[in-house]
Amino acid sequence: PESYQTDSISPSPDEGIGEPVERPGPVQIVRASESNCIFELDAAALEKILLQDHVKDLNVVVVSVAGAFRKGKSFLLDFMLRYMYNQHSDTWIGGDHEPLIGFKWRGGCERETTGIQVWSDVFVVDKPDGNKVAVLLVDTQGAFDSQSTIKDSATVFALSTMTSSVQVYNLSHNIQEDDLQHLQLFTEYGRLAMEETESKPFQSLMFLIRDWSSPYEYVYGLEGGQAFLQKRLQVKTCQHEELQNVRKHIDSCFSKISCFLLPHPGLKVATNPEFDGRLKDIEDDFKTQLAELMPLLLAPDHLVEKQIGGSKITCRDLVEYFKAYIRIYQG
Ligand code: GDP
Ligand code: MG
Repeated sequence: PESYQTDSISPSPDEGIGEPVERPGPVQIVRASESNCIFELDAAALEKILLQDHVKDLNVVVVSVAGAFRKGKSFLLDFMLRYMYNQHSDTWIGGDHEPLIGFKWRGGCERETTGIQVWSDVFVVDKPDGNKVAVLLVDTQGAFDSQSTIKDSATVFALSTMTSSVQVYNLSHNIQEDDLQHLQLFTEYGRLAMEETESKPFQSLMFLIRDWSSPYEYVYGLEGGQAFLQKRLQVKTCQHEELQNVRKHIDSCFSKISCFLLPHPGLKVATNPEFDGRLKDIEDDFKTQLAELMPLLLAPDHLVEKQIGGSKITCRDLVEYFKAYIRIYQG
């Protein structure tokens, strides 16, 4: 779908006289400032997206992807975009030769701004229960690679977890003890900032393991993922107390936790600088699992409305929550 080409240099033919036609694209709504200590919310940009007449009063579904840098988060989100733009089509995944566009992915190894981006188009979906909801897709950038960047990443992760109904925790190869400790730190950051309630503070968390390499032990997809996760998150009395606590903490934070195992997408995806995202260059196993994963996250009957303090919130409410939460991290 050329309709959301975001980085074309030449003006489109319909951009003649008068109002420029704005194409859908990623919009940076939260960024770490130059000094990297203070977080700024671009409230005007967020309002422009969430206060559009056709969505502002609808309950909102927020699907976010978080995790370390250069692990394929934006790449995955671009398939989510394809799914959302082609909701009623069996061929949503696209043609073999279409470059993958949307949120910017790849680009060597230069550092990105730590922060949060949202897609400018909010998707309106009719759920089978008769409710109309607005779906917002959220990409995050954090580095996670040194003490100084972990604090910023924690803020981004906390903010995106607090404002999303589904947080996809994107990991590479495995769930390491480190990944669980980071998750504990990040969610603690978020929980401290929220009012105490009876219910668990966050909604759905999905561990998404990329480049899963033991399909004979745990099969690709949700089923293998659930079995693997259960093993990984098991609390055992013989475990060190710290390991037990991390697990209990994670369990106490989310009302639903799941896991999905994705195969490696192939060498062209991982290493070829000429690769532009076209399906022809992606391994079949990966595409098969992607076709399973997208509806789990985004099909109308799977969409989870964002709740805060036990009530569903609208797009308009979400703007206010963003403003309130960012203030907490601005100290
Ligand atoms: P992000 O920083 O997490 O958003 O990562 P990007 O989406 O920008 O992707 C970084 C690089 O990883 C790109 O070169 C992609 O082609 C590649 N990539 C995307 N998905 C995968 C995956 O599942 N496995 C591997 N090994 N590489 C991937
Ligand atoms: Mg990215």
